[in-house]
Amino acid sequence: MIIRKTEEQIEEMAAAGDLHARCIAMLRSKIAPGVTTAELDEAAERFIVSGGGVPTFKGYRGFPASICTSPNSLVVHGIPGPYELKEGDVISIDVGVTLDGWIADGAFTAPVGEVEPETARLLEVTHQALRDAVGRVEPGNHVGDISNQVQTTVESAGFSIIKSLVGHGIGRSMHEEPQIPNYGPAGKGPEIEPGMVFAIEPMVNEGGPGVYIADDGWSVFSEDGSMAAHFEYTVAATEEGPRILTPWDEE
Ligand code: MG
Repeated sequence: MIIRKTEEQIEEMAAAGDLHARCIAMLRSKIAPGVTTAELDEAAERFIVSGGGVPTFKGYRGFPASICTSPNSLVVHGIPGPYELKEGDVISIDVGVTLDGWIADGAFTAPVGEVEPETARLLEVTHQALRDAVGRVEPGNHVGDISNQVQTTVESAGFSIIKSLVGHGIGRSMHEEPQIPNYGPAGKGPEIEPGMVFAIEPMVNEGGPGVYIADDGWSVFSEDGSMAAHFEYTVAATEEGPRILTPWDEE
């Protein structure tokens, strides 16, 4: 069952999303060679808690940190630690914020200094795929329209969708129905109705589509070691169209 939220509840989710977006703006300002992923994690936790929120990921199924930090060929779910960012890296950061019981989920991938041109294009295309997919969050469309839009933008640019990782409904729980794959036919899946809230999150490899999970049980790496990107918003479907609740790139 897809849980629809009232307008009032969407406002409450937007408050969580505002704290989320400000946390990401703070993190973006810290990304530089020499910074460790543990330092980013500590800064995020302090920021979220001082804003009255709870870092959603901490303890989720035993996850040991407040955010996921995934450099280079690490696609998602990287555990913060002693890794030091260096010039030419990309770093994907996924943040979850719970505020007054409502969850906001969102992610971005940033370059560390100057990156290879093809990697810069990977980031641009994956971010654009997310923005294009948000445009499909209209009452009367289907969840498959979101999926198909991500696939179309990514594959027409020559990059690879990771098919084993999907977006999801979100609300009081981080993962609600429906699942939102980043590929598939348009016009299929549940019909989108006002009040539905989705975490849309294209996960894309520069090289082939394969991934594997490391021995830590969390870290998902691209199989061929190619760079990966992950961009995510929490988005509400409203009568007036899509509303991004985690507008981290507008800060
Ligand atoms: Mg998510």
